Amino acid sequence: MQYISTRAGKDSPAAPRSFSEILLEGLAPDGGLYMPVDYPRVTDEELNAWRKLSYADLAYAILKKFADDIPDADLKALAHKTYTPQVYCNARTPEDAQQITPLYTLEERGDHRIMLQALSNGPTLAFKDMAMQLLGNLFEYALSKQNAELNIFGATSGDTGSSAEYAMRGKKGIRVFMLSPHKKMSAFQTAQMFSLPDPNIFNIAVEGVFDDCQDMVKAASNDLPFKAKQKIGTVNSINWARVIAQVIYYFRGYLTATTSNDQKVSFTVPSGNFGNICAGHIARMMCLPIDRLVVATNENDVLDEFFRTGVYRVRKSAETYHTSSPSMDISKASNFERFIYDLVERDGDRVEALFTRIDLRGGFNLSGKTGSDGSEFFKVSRFGFESGKSTHQDRLNTIRDVYQKYGVMIDPHTADGVKVAREHVRAGIPMIVLETALPAKFNETIREALGMDAPRPAGFENIETLPQRFDVMPVDAEKMKQYIAKRTAL
Ligand SMILES: *Cc1c(COP(=O)(O)O)cnc(C)c1O
Repeated sequence: MQYISTRAGKDSPAAPRSFSEILLEGLAPDGGLYMPVDYPRVTDEELNAWRKLSYADLAYAILKKFADDIPDADLKALAHKTYTPQVYCNARTPEDAQQITPLYTLEERGDHRIMLQALSNGPTLAFKDMAMQLLGNLFEYALSKQNAELNIFGATSGDTGSSAEYAMRGKKGIRVFMLSPHKKMSAFQTAQMFSLPDPNIFNIAVEGVFDDCQDMVKAASNDLPFKAKQKIGTVNSINWARVIAQVIYYFRGYLTATTSNDQKVSFTVPSGNFGNICAGHIARMMCLPIDRLVVATNENDVLDEFFRTGVYRVRKSAETYHTSSPSMDISKASNFERFIYDLVERDGDRVEALFTRIDLRGGFNLSGKTGSDGSEFFKVSRFGFESGKSTHQDRLNTIRDVYQKYGVMIDPHTADGVKVAREHVRAGIPMIVLETALPAKFNETIREALGMDAPRPAGFENIETLPQRFDVMPVDAEKMKQYIAKRTAL
């Protein structure tokens, strides 16, 4: 399998690259994102055979199609090391932990059925662990082959940073430097990150806001000599290996919800950077029988606006709301370019022109109306996409309603998904909502909705009282660079 950039065109026909070559990278050199040259298609026989597989074996079968330059035995070992009941131990029962991403029926009205697929039973209680845990093992494997080191440098306001730290802790050849805004994360999230004892994890609390942290990361990344000398890498959501790790659970969800391949299912996905649902798009392009892919947003509705109108209008920081589903608070969706690439029939020059327009004019318009930048919007439904939006009040109502009717407590992001799923479910086609976090992570909103605390999985009861390790730093990119240089020289 070869990969090309979404912006490779007639003027810049970059040579295709292998999986291992792009594994440790973020953006392609031309500023685009990596995509497979073509999608592997699954056959009826394969799907039948896959119904009986464990999660780890299913992961191996799918990864093999994308990472064909890693020897089979090694890939199989990596899948089995990653997807174990011990890693996904925060499931409700030991039997659920065996399944890694257990599927439950939430509500059934006539032949309208809504299901929940649990993706948040990993170490940080959010779905990002599904991909990041694999990434940690893949990175360690690739670095040991090359006898190389990598220093992961990033900024976080919550879920991504902790997921990366738990995936990379104790890994040979890897250090993590994670910036977070000092005293601005929830007590739970702070404790999760800062209580890690591993010497390869560095928590840096910046005396500023999240945007200051991101600017410091950008300053270091734009300093190319520094970046090369210190072997700086990232683990953000555009990493291709993260996307394919997420493809696996769409297959698992489909295969668990159905008994034969002539049945279809739909998915509703609480979305921010379009990473999660992009994996659903890829699964569908691989011929998994998915009917609809429903994008659920919160008040930050950039994506809902596009899927309703064909207008993609990125927001300014001042127009980006801080909501009670904070992991979906985005102003532009970093993986969206992958879908647009397929929508414009893989015309890299066109993608380049559209995404350059974002920097110049704040967006693009594919509605086909006079003055628009194209008319591809009419093709969106062929890809199965629909969308909807949820607000703070919807979130509270949904958490309350689901708890009162079914005794199931869902987190605010998953509640956005359930709210939108109820508007899009169709007769005879199960609608699977992807659960993206456990309620314990967002207790303030649970209290507001239900007047009580979310239960905490075993081992998390007193996490705030554990000793914490972190260094406080002013908003100063030079100090940051010195900090890293000193620690990578050890
Ligand atoms: C990251 C995250 C999302 C959004 O996922 P994307 O891949 O960015 O669309 C939704 N919910 C939770 C809890 C998350 O951590």
